[in-house]
Amino acid sequence: MSEGAKKKEEKPRKFQAIRGTRDLLPPETALWNRVEQTAHEVFGIYGFGEIRTPILEQTELFARAVGGETDVVAKEMYSFVVADSTRLIAWKDFVAGTRRIRDLDELDIYERSLSYLSRAVREAVKAEYLPDDGETQSLLSRMNGTMLVTAAALARGRKSGVSAEFEELDKQIEDAAIAAASIKFGEEISLRPEATASVCRAYIEHNMQQLPQPVKLYYMGPMFRRERPQKGRYRQFYQIGAEILGGPDAPAIDAELIEMLMTFFDKCGLQGTELSINSIGHAADNCRRGYVAKLRAELEKVKDKLGADSQRRIETNPLRVLDSKLEHEQAIIATLPHIADHLCDECKTHYAAVKHELELRGVIYRENWRLVRGLDYYMRTTFEITAQGLGSQNAVCGGGRYDGLVELLGGPPTKGIGFAIGEDRLILSLQESGKGAAPQGRDVYIAWMGERAYATAIRAAKDLRNAGLRVELPPTELKFGKALERASKLGSRFALILGDNEVQSGEWTLKNLATSEQQKLTEQALLEYLHGL
Ligand code: ATP
Ligand code: MG
Repeated sequence: MSEGAKKKEEKPRKFQAIRGTRDLLPPETALWNRVEQTAHEVFGIYGFGEIRTPILEQTELFARAVGGETDVVAKEMYSFVVADSTRLIAWKDFVAGTRRIRDLDELDIYERSLSYLSRAVREAVKAEYLPDDGETQSLLSRMNGTMLVTAAALARGRKSGVSAEFEELDKQIEDAAIAAASIKFGEEISLRPEATASVCRAYIEHNMQQLPQPVKLYYMGPMFRRERPQKGRYRQFYQIGAEILGGPDAPAIDAELIEMLMTFFDKCGLQGTELSINSIGHAADNCRRGYVAKLRAELEKVKDKLGADSQRRIETNPLRVLDSKLEHEQAIIATLPHIADHLCDECKTHYAAVKHELELRGVIYRENWRLVRGLDYYMRTTFEITAQGLGSQNAVCGGGRYDGLVELLGGPPTKGIGFAIGEDRLILSLQESGKGAAPQGRDVYIAWMGERAYATAIRAAKDLRNAGLRVELPPTELKFGKALERASKLGSRFALILGDNEVQSGEWTLKNLATSEQQKLTEQALLEYLHGL
């Protein structure tokens, strides 16, 4: 085949959205907007202000806040190193990975890489990309020390052709390797898997503890987790969440937050919602820690009957065993001790008061002693809301109290509670129950013919749009029959017919596309008529 023929056959590559991500299209986006608008309204009424945090944060923030051992951080984060040169990282990796050299050519390459690396470090300091501190200086001098001896050994080896002294370099090379490994050329950053950590970071960074407490914030936007995509589970998904930071940990705060949440779901028209609540106490020997020890001991006794995941969790996080959805584990889990029987007096009182406060507000709840949350930072009140039409991914919201989190991130001791709604699942459930959005129709389709009519049509479109009507003005002339066909396809309510006759007489024809009735109206009367509908 000739080059030309080959070129002709090559079709341009088609691109697709990355696995686990998707496009949201009209008319569905209208539903997304309605849900988000409802959130703005309801949260605003309860005194919350919107916060928008970056999608990128330091990886360390999530490792610390969410917990390095959680699935979210250990397996599901999109993390990367941002450096100004990948070559630089290659030199660093080469030097850090070299422990012994037994060959002159190898020594040559090594010596050069080390000198490039050392120069790169000096440049990075100059560009304020690396700190100009004692640590960097000591790194540099260690690398230079190694460079001096390797350069000398190389020169001697080249001259004499003998290379007997390799062993003597081992210690120096190892020292340079350790020094190189500790250079942080890039920042480790991640796409946020959730937003609570970012909100707490912002609370501290902007000294919000100096504002009247508590500070009530809400957010909405995309989150990223690299998990297996399925119905209601995506790698880029959207959350709407709220946090209350600072002030007391009064049970009324927990209850009002949940009341707001249920009001929001109600206003959205979400069907079959069920609120489950629990208290997981606090991390103390006479509270959750004691319970976890007891739970672990009980689980050890039935270990053989549990699946691999649960067996592993006996060690790492026994609470998560309660979360298991495995059919054959259910009967075993039912026999395990309940946390409610092991809460300390304060946590017990707090939990009872939260339930009382919910009752005062007419919020219907169900207690679920097995409700533990996946993220490390939760304590005391935890809750979850499920909705219908979602199959096994039926949790639309999770939340709870996290009094220690702000302090864990270097802030002052601060109480905190919040929730995160899975917006994708909320939308899915609304669609399943027939609350999806209808395609966006038009109020008026302007069927024009002739140049004079066109000028009038442009003016009419502008006036009608100014009056808030949805107007479609075809950019090229169409026969009236064709134009009316298009008008119907777009779901237009009326067609405004503008031809020479209409322009001349000043009487415009308005056709109701549902009833096929036509009427003649002056421009002014037409505007009034459409406005009055
Ligand atoms: P799940 O048990 O369903 O994995 P989770 O405990 O990981 O949920 P949270 O971290 O508490 O969830 O997030 C709150 C809400 O965000 C969930 O209740 C769910 O509605 C939604 N959510 C979480 N992960 C995803 C995802 N990958 N795709 C879509 N929605 C998600
Ligand atoms: Mg999850």
